[in-house]
Amino acid sequence: MVLLFKHEPLTDFNQPENAAAFEAALGKVRAELGREYPLVINGERIYTDEQLISVNPANKEQVVGKVSKAAKKHIEMAFEGANEAFQTWRKMSPEARANVLFKAAAIARRRKHELSAWLVFDAGKPWSQADGDTAEGIDFLEYYGREMLKLAKGQKMEQRENEHNTYFYQPIGPGVTIPPWNFAFAIVCGTTVAPIVAGNPVLLKPSENTPVIAYKLVEILEEAGLPKGVLQFVPGDPAEIGDYLVDHKETRWINFTGSKATGLRIYERAAKVQKGQQFLKQVVAEMGGKDTIIVDKEADLDLAADAIVHSAFGFSGQKCSACSRVAVHEDVYDEVLEKTIALAQELTIGDPSEKNVYMGAVINQKQYDKITSYIEIGKKEGKLVLGGEADDSKGFFIHPTIFKDVDPKARIMQEEIFGPVVAFTKGKDFDELLDIANNTEYGLTGAVISKNREHLERARYEFHVGNLYFNRGCTAAVVGYQPFGGFKMSGTDSKSGGPDYLKLFMEAKSVSEMF
Ligand code: GLU
Repeated sequence: MVLLFKHEPLTDFNQPENAAAFEAALGKVRAELGREYPLVINGERIYTDEQLISVNPANKEQVVGKVSKAAKKHIEMAFEGANEAFQTWRKMSPEARANVLFKAAAIARRRKHELSAWLVFDAGKPWSQADGDTAEGIDFLEYYGREMLKLAKGQKMEQRENEHNTYFYQPIGPGVTIPPWNFAFAIVCGTTVAPIVAGNPVLLKPSENTPVIAYKLVEILEEAGLPKGVLQFVPGDPAEIGDYLVDHKETRWINFTGSKATGLRIYERAAKVQKGQQFLKQVVAEMGGKDTIIVDKEADLDLAADAIVHSAFGFSGQKCSACSRVAVHEDVYDEVLEKTIALAQELTIGDPSEKNVYMGAVINQKQYDKITSYIEIGKKEGKLVLGGEADDSKGFFIHPTIFKDVDPKARIMQEEIFGPVVAFTKGKDFDELLDIANNTEYGLTGAVISKNREHLERARYEFHVGNLYFNRGCTAAVVGYQPFGGFKMSGTDSKSGGPDYLKLFMEAKSVSEMF
């Protein structure tokens, strides 16, 4: 009997025993830093001479792991093995496939702090953010397992005399998962195990920033009994194998989460039918965001400040759901700004392996340079009222940064920064606030802080985002509670952690028999 889905609880690190357990996990992982990791193809470990070197963003000198790099010949081997594995995996009962996910969830739960500790070093996540990332990965395993069991029951069709109709979903075939580094356990796990439980083999190319924690997922799924060849672990250089994976004639679907630029490139390339390809590729793309919090005239302003600070600066704003624009009613603008600055000033920045550090470093030099260049642009487009400081001598540290009086059409109001930078603007009434919120090319998340029921109900239909929140921040969607995915240039609105997700990796078959 499978119990109803309930999300994995977060750890309270104020409890001394939890903090001690986490310190112990950090110690264990610290002792394992710098190891070498192989590709995994058909269950075989393959070590290559060329490696991806994953470093700790908070301490560039510290090597987290050295991960083998797949070349084109490895991709060929991986597709061959995946096609073979597909013949048996697709026929395995949905229960058997779901059970692999349930066991993997149990194993991940047993190793929860260890996995989170890897996230601290590999992705630079502070404790609570790392804990949330691991918990979400466990949620995906539990949720998609249950969704598969539901789908397996099939659909009842209408019947006519002399005619019997059935309708069911079947897996499509091997595909490619290209996940991001910012939820290096959760999203890697979710975007891999959803197609797997649906019956499809997966070639997983993790981000070159966080390949070590991805390898841990591979280990867990193997331990849970996933047959060889169903998950092919092929980390590598995106320039070398990215297009190759997408273009490959054996790729039936691509499950991508990352930047708009890469998402558009994948979408376009996947549309081209290759020689020998006898199907159309499916693309699931979860791309960027430029997410707005609206603060209305009648609103709890303390709640507004709290929502803005945690949505803008949690994990240094490196979430596609992060709040990077705030539109405030002119009557409360100064007060909201003042409260937000006061709260943000209290945030602690430092080595994320230390307890009570709220913000660590941003992921790498490229992102550091991008974010600091947007801070320079912001200085021209608005008034800097907090932060702006950055230091990349040891790690990539950037302070929480707030700009005020920014034109809604300014670059820092329109372009995704993916860092701890938020811009404020004001509006004269709710109409204008909604217009501002909708005036970007993205449509991922948004929030409205208001006590006005009529305004909330208008926003429900007129604030054009895939994930809308009332009287809370705009990050931290929970699997099975707030299915996640956006409109417009934020992607294909493929709601992860939702009831429609598995079907994206399946095809529906209608069979009608006369008798
Ligand atoms: N699902 C995450 C959230 O709700 C964001 C995922 C992402 O950044 O890709 O905050």
